[in-house]
Amino acid sequence: MKSATSDAEREIKKIGRQHDFRMAKSLGQNFLTDQSVIERIVDASEAGPADLVIEIGPGMGVLTREAAEAAGKVVAIEVDARLIPILRSTLALCGNVVVVHEDVLKTDIRELISRERTLPDGTEAEHVRIVGNLPYYITTPILMKLLEERLDISSVTIMVQKEVAERIAAPPGSRTYGALSVAVQYFCDVEYVVDVPKEVFIPVPKVDSAVLHLRLRNEPPVDLLSEKLFFDCVKKSFGQRRKTLHNALTGVCGLDKQQTGALLLACGIDPARRAETLSLSEFASLANRLAQPGL
Ligand code: SAM
Repeated sequence: MKSATSDAEREIKKIGRQHDFRMAKSLGQNFLTDQSVIERIVDASEAGPADLVIEIGPGMGVLTREAAEAAGKVVAIEVDARLIPILRSTLALCGNVVVVHEDVLKTDIRELISRERTLPDGTEAEHVRIVGNLPYYITTPILMKLLEERLDISSVTIMVQKEVAERIAAPPGSRTYGALSVAVQYFCDVEYVVDVPKEVFIPVPKVDSAVLHLRLRNEPPVDLLSEKLFFDCVKKSFGQRRKTLHNALTGVCGLDKQQTGALLLACGIDPARRAETLSLSEFASLANRLAQPGL
């Protein structure tokens, strides 16, 4: 993917010199330099002229500019105060971009959506789409905030560490399938878009990345009596992933070992299996049986 020095790389270096800007490792600042990857992220997001894009961590605005070409409007949330004047200058020609100086983990995204949903042409955005080359140190908290708050968003297209992308997309039975896979797959249909080598960032990080496109589900993929019990079961099962489910789940809802064995058998699950082999519907049947009074 990396060939000669790209325009984006030249621009980032030039802006860095002009503003005496040093990238902060503590904020996960690895800026994208490959135009084809930037375009791939925006294409994957399916953003169109009737959509509002919310970008997390615009950095110097390379992805923001591309998103602004495709979408009706872009709201870019950036925590680093030093980048705000830089963004105002790199995005000066984009009339449909709003820069918000905030920590995304503290942003009331529901309120932001209702405040910014009107597009420059006066219409209401059809879809709200999240896009971002996420700061890796807070990938999971950002993602879980976006999903658990049940916001009115259609999709989340993000660059994350490759290893995290693999965990999120992993099917049951695979080595990387875990609580994060179950949680994200419960809320979204997950598409693994493309691997991205570390060399297309400045500075070059230690690990490769990948782009995911998550389509928010209209209906959950399984019927649950209690979502809380479902996630409790998932957490407890994977909390000790080397143990059999019989051992890992003993104690859940106060069940002793014998009751746990009976619960698993009643759900048609061999108690000797391990959490990483359970599908979403098997976790759902466990949780639903636990939710029944008098178990
Ligand atoms: N989008 C740019 C790109 O692709 O070149 C920058 C991506 S860089 C991996 C992550 C960006 O997120 C940085 O600009 C960083 O300052 C910003 N960031 C880090 N923590 C943040 C937070 N809590 N809220 C909002 N932005 C944050």
